[in-house]
Amino acid sequence: MPVVTSDCLFCRIVAGEIPATVVHETGTTLAFRDIGPKAPVHVLVIPKAHHVDVAALAEADPLLAGQVLAAAAAVAKAEGLQSDGYRTIFNTGGYGGQEVLHVHAHVVGGGPLGPMLAR
Ligand code: AMP
Ligand code: ZN
Repeated sequence: MPVVTSDCLFCRIVAGEIPATVVHETGTTLAFRDIGPKAPVHVLVIPKAHHVDVAALAEADPLLAGQVLAAAAAVAKAEGLQSDGYRTIFNTGGYGGQEVLHVHAHVVGGGPLGPMLAR
């Protein structure tokens, strides 16, 4: 799996080719505001390396998977979500509604989020 793919939207954000509002960065992860927020706080947390989904990431690089989770927790804390609670979501594949095929955690909160699934 290549570290960066030029046709991947989130790899292009990592490369600085597409602007994003970055709220947190480590050597291996990047977090930026979702362009279409679904909650008062909606941040995407990604590994800088390209992996398609959370299952592929966990299999290829469990350490990096943990770093993404730690970054998601740091974002939630920095955004003031810790005390009231929030949700961390990894959409995966077609039924999961995954649109961007570069693994990302949605960190959403800032108000009541309603039922877990809209069906
Ligand atoms: P998913 O459906 O889980 O793949 O989520 C993809 C998310 O990426 C959606 O919530 C989009 O609003 C978000 N998104 C798409 N393009 C951008 C962008 N250029 N900057 C920030 N977020 C984006
Ligand atoms: Zn990518």
